[in-house]
Amino acid sequence: RSKEIGRNSFQLYKASMNARSLERLSMLSRFQSALENSEFELYFQPLQCLTSSRINSVECLLRWQDPNLGMISPAQFIPLAEELGLITQLDKWVVNRACEQMAFWHSQGAEIRRIAINISAQFLSQGDLALTVANALTKHRLKGQYLEIELTESSFISNLHEAKMQLKQLKSLGVSIALDDFGTGYSALSYLTKLPIDILKIDASFIAKIPDEYGNSEIVSAIIAMAKALNLQVVAEGVEKPEQRQFLQKLGCHTLQGYLFCKPLAANNWMNFYNSAKLTS
Ligand code: C2E
Ligand code: MG
Ligand code: MG
Ligand code: MG
Repeated sequence: RSKEIGRNSFQLYKASMNARSLERLSMLSRFQSALENSEFELYFQPLQCLTSSRINSVECLLRWQDPNLGMISPAQFIPLAEELGLITQLDKWVVNRACEQMAFWHSQGAEIRRIAINISAQFLSQGDLALTVANALTKHRLKGQYLEIELTESSFISNLHEAKMQLKQLKSLGVSIALDDFGTGYSALSYLTKLPIDILKIDASFIAKIPDEYGNSEIVSAIIAMAKALNLQVVAEGVEKPEQRQFLQKLGCHTLQGYLFCKPLAANNWMNFYNSAKLTS
């Protein structure tokens, strides 16, 4: 009897393994065709300066518009792209697309100070991030000062040496470096002084709990104080409520990102938003 159960569960295991590898295989070919058929699109979320109320920068957020499944969120496809080793190809596309968009905005007279790109740990450890960025800047005749690279702490764990080299090269191009989702993950604070980081982005999970949850406001104010002491710009992610904005403003947080100011926008909705934001600031 137990033998039978064993055999059955093995069959089941085999079946699910097959289904899984089939799924991987079809994902691989779907990714390739999605890239070829321009199913990926960048959305743009503006970040607001808390002192001047003006737009400080814009973060690029990747979207996948599948003809059959509709919009797929990056929370779903990015982990899969990482697992399948496809994320670097995708990030390279984003780097180019972001530079193209920034050059276009400049040609329209929109003075956006920086465009921020999320880069995966895999791409950073691979060794050609800085070169890819340099080539994209040249191609779109853009200065490095207009670009910001967002990394998470997990990017530094596998290969701190390579990360350091890449960041040094990016800095020499004039590119800014942001540490994304700060406070989650490993939060090894020594990275803040070992690496040339310019901006700290406080993870949205902390902001979401302001002002209600015990101890949370204290953590956020400690992060802001630390960032200021280390001469880092500090951004609060996921700001949705006016109370959160007021709290952050009182603590001297530099920049706010969240639905309260603006949701991520498709490129064709951007100029409208930009022009109306300029009028009210
Ligand atoms: P992230 O870099 O931390 O980006 C911020 C996320 O918070 C975005 O989710 C944004 O849409 C969302 N967000 C902004 N304001 C609010 C708010 O007020 N409330 C809430 N609830 N959410 C807000 P999104 O676009 O789904 O992206 C999720 C993650 O996927 C990003 O987190 C980033 O880690 C990754 N990602 C996005 N685009 C790329 C890309 O081009 N390359 C790579 N490697 N990763 C990307
Ligand atoms: Mg980000
Ligand atoms: Mg984040
Ligand atoms: Mg993130």
